[in-house]
Amino acid sequence: MSMNYCSECGSSKLSDKIPANDHLLRVCCDDCGKIHYKNPRMIVGCLPVWEENFLLAKRGIEPQKGLWGLPAGFMESNETAVQGALRELYEETKAEGTIIRLHCCYSLVHIGMVYMYFLTQLKSSFCEPTEESQEVKLFPKDKIPWKEMAFSSTEYALKKYLENPDSETVHLGTFDPNSLNQRAWG
Ligand code: ZN
Repeated sequence: MSMNYCSECGSSKLSDKIPANDHLLRVCCDDCGKIHYKNPRMIVGCLPVWEENFLLAKRGIEPQKGLWGLPAGFMESNETAVQGALRELYEETKAEGTIIRLHCCYSLVHIGMVYMYFLTQLKSSFCEPTEESQEVKLFPKDKIPWKEMAFSSTEYALKKYLENPDSETVHLGTFDPNSLNQRAWG
């Protein structure tokens, strides 16, 4: 994300500098001195379970349109992580659930994103497509469409759960762009 004008004063005199008492290059305004920090974005989502089935949504929007993923999206400023995860669940699948616990935290350093997935008990098997998803479906573990996954974060969350469904560990993962079995997109 490039910036042409200072959001503080409107100046176009922005330059990359290491501010005093800092150690990284930042976009700084030469006129008002404002430092424009660029921090990773938080993505919150659910690992929704109903009677040992997992609810996935086939994406109706880019990126990765037509591929399957767990319901997730960018956290909003006016909500908690849990509220955001349940909101995304509803927006993508019309399903409702109850958060059980944090399941995994997955970082994508190369694109500045952090996923938080919450293990979620669905209130019923009800789900239906939305503007964001062209198909929604509950999959038993042996029918999960591993070859049509949109994001490595979805693969990670599902695999870690299936390795040991009873574990209460919060799994800490990192996308490795050098690994051939992971996709370019988070
Ligand atoms: Zn400025």
